[in-house]
Amino acid sequence: MTIYADNAATTRMSQTAIRAMLPYMDQIYGNPSSLHSVGQAAMEALTEARTRVAAALGAASPREITFTSGGSEADNQAIRSVAVWGKRKGKTHIISTAFEHHAVLHTLKKLEKEGFTVTYLDVHENGLVTPEQVEAAITPETCLVTVMYANNEIGTIQPIRQIGAVCRKAGVLFHTDAVQAVGHIPVNVQEDNIDLLSLSAHKFHGPKGVGVLYAKKGVILSNLIEGGAQERGKRAGTENLPGIMGMTAALEEAIRELPETMPRLTQLRDRLIAGLCEIPHGAVNGDLEHRLPGNVSFCFEGIEGESLLLLLDDGGVCASSGSACTSGSLDPSHVLLAIGRPHEVAHGSLRLSLDRDTTAEDVETIIRVTRQVVEQLRAMSPVWRDLTDGKRAFVIE
Ligand SMILES: *Cc1c(COP(=O)(O)O)cnc(C)c1O
Repeated sequence: MTIYADNAATTRMSQTAIRAMLPYMDQIYGNPSSLHSVGQAAMEALTEARTRVAAALGAASPREITFTSGGSEADNQAIRSVAVWGKRKGKTHIISTAFEHHAVLHTLKKLEKEGFTVTYLDVHENGLVTPEQVEAAITPETCLVTVMYANNEIGTIQPIRQIGAVCRKAGVLFHTDAVQAVGHIPVNVQEDNIDLLSLSAHKFHGPKGVGVLYAKKGVILSNLIEGGAQERGKRAGTENLPGIMGMTAALEEAIRELPETMPRLTQLRDRLIAGLCEIPHGAVNGDLEHRLPGNVSFCFEGIEGESLLLLLDDGGVCASSGSACTSGSLDPSHVLLAIGRPHEVAHGSLRLSLDRDTTAEDVETIIRVTRQVVEQLRAMSPVWRDLTDGKRAFVIE
């Protein structure tokens, strides 16, 4: 039996989401832009989905919801849109953090080449930035602050509401990549003072390839994709109606179940952290309190993350070293470096992300297998030998 503990990379679709999609593949298959009855039935469903998604996020109006191909597109469009507006107004400064998802970081890097200045806030050792840091970085040229709601590698939850309040006061637009937060913790765009928000269905048991860009009334979006007049002219292309219906159902289900899943996952997470803490010279990454219910992130000294993952997989545990996007590259995670882990320690990282299917028994198995595998790898590691021989100093006690 395989234990899937990589839900931050993607999740298994829920039966509710699958069932919600099926009618839109073979019965209500029309193009919402068609004027005939088959198309209009599809348009009705699309309109209903937009209303339901707006309600689930606490948005003021369905007009604030744009359907996209996922989190990456929503991040790109959010940042690009504000940049276009900012440039026109002579505001070319953006504030972000050093540990954003690459969909945000790479968009910002491109904007820097186009003449924007970006301040990347230092992330504290506990994996958090503060509203005070944001406030101190704002200048009259700042057009946008973009800070992720919850980090995809270390699971830390930022003080989004307070950061949003700082931005409101300064008259700066605030975007948050909430891909890891929506469906996992309560998120409300109005209460949280958010102007733009990105989410992705496949991170909360919905289908892949569909997401949402929330943009508060008054925020002007620009297109990444030109073409037809879909999504009020802001995102061309025939709408992915089955995906949108599946996402809507998955979103409502995840939010409905939060009062049950959050405490249960928190308990499993804390047991898993406690079990892994017994491995010597290992340490948890990120704050223990402001943390996603299902996220466990560790660094172990004297081992190499890739081999750890392969052996865990042999032992029936699917995990990740951090981000699915950095796997295959030899660079250590930018997130772990941002919280001050030295290179050699960041290489020995492990992320376990649980979901509502995870059982207490799974957690015990993960602890047992991880302990075995870490021991096995250390027994073969020249770095570990140097550490235990005293030729190199331990970083983690
Ligand atoms: C997965 C993820 C994304 C990208 O979403 P896709 O739908 O896969 O494009 C963006 N940001 C964060 C924090 C993520 O975890």
